Amino acid sequence: PVDRSPEIQEARLKLPILAEEQVIMEAINENPIVIICGETGSGKTTQVPQFLYEVGYASSDGAIGITEPRRVAAVSMSQRVAKEMNLSNRVVSYQIRYEGNVTDETQIKFMTDGVLLKEVQKDFLLSKYKVVIIDEAHERSMYTDILIGLLSRIVPLREKKGLPLKLIIMSATLRVEDFTNNKKLFSVTPPVIQVDARQFPVTVHFNKKTPLDDYSGECFRKVCKIHRMLPSGGILVFLTGQAEVHSLCRRLRKAFPFQKNNTAGSLVIFLSQVLPKIDLDNYSVVPVDEGDEDRDTETDDDMAGSDTDLDLGDGDSEEDEKSDSSLPLYVLPLYSLLAPEKQAKVFRPPPPGTRLCVVATNVAETSLTIPGIKYVVDCGKVKKRFYDKITGVSSFRITWISQASANQRAGRAGRTEPGHCYRLYSSAVFMDFEKFSAPEITKRPVEDLILQMKALNIEKVINFPFPTPPPTEALAAAEELLIALGALKEPPMTGRLKQQLAAKLSCPISPLGRVMATFPVAPRYAKMLALSRQHDCLPYTITIVSAMTVRELFEELDRPAVSEEEAAELKGKKARFLQMQRIWAGQGPMQKLGDLMVMLGAVGACEYAGCTRKFCEENGLRYKAMLEIRRLRGQLTTAVNSVCTDAGLFVDPKMKPPTEAQATYLRQIVLAGLGDHVARRVQAEELLDDKWKNAYKTALLEDPVFIHPSSVLFKQLPEFVVYQEIVETTKLYMKGVSAVEPE
Ligand code: ADP
Ligand code: MG
Repeated sequence: PVDRSPEIQEARLKLPILAEEQVIMEAINENPIVIICGETGSGKTTQVPQFLYEVGYASSDGAIGITEPRRVAAVSMSQRVAKEMNLSNRVVSYQIRYEGNVTDETQIKFMTDGVLLKEVQKDFLLSKYKVVIIDEAHERSMYTDILIGLLSRIVPLREKKGLPLKLIIMSATLRVEDFTNNKKLFSVTPPVIQVDARQFPVTVHFNKKTPLDDYSGECFRKVCKIHRMLPSGGILVFLTGQAEVHSLCRRLRKAFPFQKNNTAGSLVIFLSQVLPKIDLDNYSVVPVDEGDEDRDTETDDDMAGSDTDLDLGDGDSEEDEKSDSSLPLYVLPLYSLLAPEKQAKVFRPPPPGTRLCVVATNVAETSLTIPGIKYVVDCGKVKKRFYDKITGVSSFRITWISQASANQRAGRAGRTEPGHCYRLYSSAVFMDFEKFSAPEITKRPVEDLILQMKALNIEKVINFPFPTPPPTEALAAAEELLIALGALKEPPMTGRLKQQLAAKLSCPISPLGRVMATFPVAPRYAKMLALSRQHDCLPYTITIVSAMTVRELFEELDRPAVSEEEAAELKGKKARFLQMQRIWAGQGPMQKLGDLMVMLGAVGACEYAGCTRKFCEENGLRYKAMLEIRRLRGQLTTAVNSVCTDAGLFVDPKMKPPTEAQATYLRQIVLAGLGDHVARRVQAEELLDDKWKNAYKTALLEDPVFIHPSSVLFKQLPEFVVYQEIVETTKLYMKGVSAVEPE
């Protein structure tokens, strides 16, 4: 029996999925696999685990596991469900890559899809679970796709053992054909239950013209108009990245601050009395800046501008614009790297008398439902990382979203009453969008995935029941890399190229590969760990690998400042950082380790100082990254100890710098892992074209590559280097660079 509070009870009854409880539970009782489709916000994630719990699916010998593609969702959903059920987080818990609160008592466990994939490796039958729910399957994240493929085999195996496992696949938008019309995946098509969301109508307004690139500015103007002219109701803005989100938040807070007169003052005092939990720092108490030209111009433009492409709806003209514009706007950012306690703010009601405005990245598109949103402003763009299938070179690009995404975003407006979605692009542009975005597995390198699969003794990866298979080139590139790293056994090289390729795609895992697969990092880094027994190098390799895996250790200090004060602060920080970078880079042979030595030195110094927020802020390190590195070091240390039981490693907060011999050996280890990432400086006699000045040549790329200006080796230009990755911005840049000696 679940003891829910009356408010929760009432809120639940409003959710469309409650009406389907019986149908859903009957389908689950009668079928091993069930697909549930329903609009975002209909209650799938929060309610289905509760339905199952209430009829006894969770017990001491088996839990309910729910996977999410995003960490944000795993954490916040576990908290929400615990709260709704009035259970502690010892019972309703979460596990994400670097942390979790799972206990012996856990009966409902939210986790990222990657976490469950690791569990399949330890226990293929997932015997800890009675039910596995794959949530947000429509997002088609790589691990979700693989899990569905694996579970399509695990479910019948559990049936045979007489320990049946229920699989529930939940998805928002309807694109279930990849799962249902796929006999290789499910020979018996699972039933699909459609939850009809009581969605209120959302009126979609297209822009007449599509802004060329200033969609942030267009968002700002649209929010201003809505806030000034339209009735109450929360606004949700979709932008592409963290920096954009922050800059729009700043602009909006500046445009709609609290008034400095007594009403605002007393409101703040009033709020602090009745709502002690609300963080008053977070809605702006900046006084109105009389001399703010920018704001006035925007205002005039807005008022004078043609409204024909705005379609702001009937009845708005009666709104008293003046009083509306004096309403403070409660502006909150939302993106995945934001600290969880800050993310949680969007779920709380805004302070009385204010309008909520959430400025979000794509995380708000499906995983999280923000209450009270009536207006959606959609810039139509998303930031994605693109990889070259063969070379693995990546770049971040901002592209148009798919029609499915656009509709999903619009749907966020009609949850509690009829809503409006303002698309900052024309309907013609919308018609040119792809219908759905391509599944992740078809878009990125798959060597980590292939190693995991081989460790599960899936040799002929090509025969695996993928919901959508990765391209053959990507599979071949992964297989080749894993052979080069020694993780797979060399194929017998006979016959023509085609046969070789076929043979390669079914190479079995080697003993080294098995060891590598136990480390939760990319195969190249796993290889480094597997080689580090000698010279007591393991603690150093673990630290370097952790830093390379977490990435983005250093604060972005070259960012544009919003004020002169900030500019001065950034300048000071940058000077300090450069000084520290030289110290962290070490001396003698250590220096040749380049950026990897800087990472090692930075982590070492940070831990020595107790890994405090203060130390990080003073030295240009990202605090959140440092905490993640600390956790990953712990995890990798445990993993290494369980492979070599006599290693006796521990995470030493006072780790000494490596000796000369160790530094030399570390470079060999790095070279062994990144052997396919070697670049050679272009020789003077090869310098026919100016574009090759200071450039490097790699085996895979025709074009010149360069050491990134942020690298400590940027000015030294060693003859041979290895790099962690190549990222394309204005040029092809190598990041994470170390010097190597020719053989
Ligand atoms: P779905 O999975 O179908 O998208 P959810 O189960 O996530 O739907 O959400 C159902 C409803 O529960 C949402 O409409 C939202 O109002 C409410 N809800 C979800 N998470 C929270 C939260 N952390 N705080 C308050 N309400 C929430
Ligand atoms: Mg959900």
